[in-house]
Amino acid sequence: MTKIAAAIIPTPRARVQAMKEYHPPLGCRDALRLDFNENTLACSPNVREVLGRISAGSLTRYPEREPVETIVGAHLGLAAAQVALTNGVDEAIHVLFEAFLGEGDELLLPVPTYTMYEIYASATDARVVAVQAADDLRFPFERLLAAITRRTKIIAIANPNSPSGSAATRAQLIEIASRAPQAVLLVDEAYFHFHGETVMDLIGFVPNLMAARTFSKAYGLAGLRLGLLAGPVELMRWVRRVLSPYSVNSLALACLTPALEDSTYLDWYVGEVLAARAEFEAALDQAGVRRWPSRANFVLVEIGAQHAEFARLMRAAGVLVRDRSGDPGCDGRVRITIGTREQMQKAAVALNETLDVLKNEGRAQ
Ligand code: PMP
Repeated sequence: MTKIAAAIIPTPRARVQAMKEYHPPLGCRDALRLDFNENTLACSPNVREVLGRISAGSLTRYPEREPVETIVGAHLGLAAAQVALTNGVDEAIHVLFEAFLGEGDELLLPVPTYTMYEIYASATDARVVAVQAADDLRFPFERLLAAITRRTKIIAIANPNSPSGSAATRAQLIEIASRAPQAVLLVDEAYFHFHGETVMDLIGFVPNLMAARTFSKAYGLAGLRLGLLAGPVELMRWVRRVLSPYSVNSLALACLTPALEDSTYLDWYVGEVLAARAEFEAALDQAGVRRWPSRANFVLVEIGAQHAEFARLMRAAGVLVRDRSGDPGCDGRVRITIGTREQMQKAAVALNETLDVLKNEGRAQ
């Protein structure tokens, strides 16, 4: 058919016209993946086995999430009605913002932080109020409290935070929730397993507190897209109105129970990462690279003006890292995911070689 020439074409909402497309830099990742804070190895072998046993017939059915929400709720000490499974935490953020953020509302964000909060907020009519962390990148508690207004509708806190690796304390989070009763406090616990501290036990007790968890990090299931949002029933019912009933597919649902049950694998992987983090931090210190203390499976380092060249040379050496220079207050800083000890020993070799090359390039200039 010949293309119809259009005098007028449909236009989306003004907010969408103003948005930028977001393309995570994923291309060509056949290398050591220290760029997206994923599990760098594998999921539990039990999950792999369940996946292998999925029948062709079962794929003909629409996925049923409620029975699995009961299981995950029990695992977290919550009722099924207090939990929603989502297509990764990204969908949890998206539906929460869609449900709550309207014209005149403010989303309060300590920055630098996870990119998707701002992206999903930009599709709503709300205003983003960013609270910049100081140079130490510690959680800007006092400044955040001071930025709360009557219009604050959501406060989103990644805990631990990315890319800084810093964490807010439980007492600080409780204080924030009580100082902004008109707002949802979203505590994004994507990196919970590496940190070990949670507010999940406060769900239902603090009326405006919600928390998110992902299966993309410690559990090693980023490709399946599985996350969850927990909150008091009174708030979850609004979220469920905008959540697609089938956004979590049946393969992801089938993998959740074996993933939760294999705590031996999870504990092993987390232990491996924490040991690797300590060793890699020592290697950074030895190399004289400034780093920020991390409570997660990554570490932010100061490279300076040569940050892009550093990331390029590391890639050439087979190690992918993430240049975070574009993040607020992060010029010259690069985030490196922590994998296993063996992987991080290779990464440390590549790091030292790359730093040597940069030093020589610097001298030549
Ligand atoms: N929250 C934070 C703080 C993250 O860093 C990430 C992933 N980079 C996510 C959420 C996204 O998790 P998911 O893969 O479950 O969408």
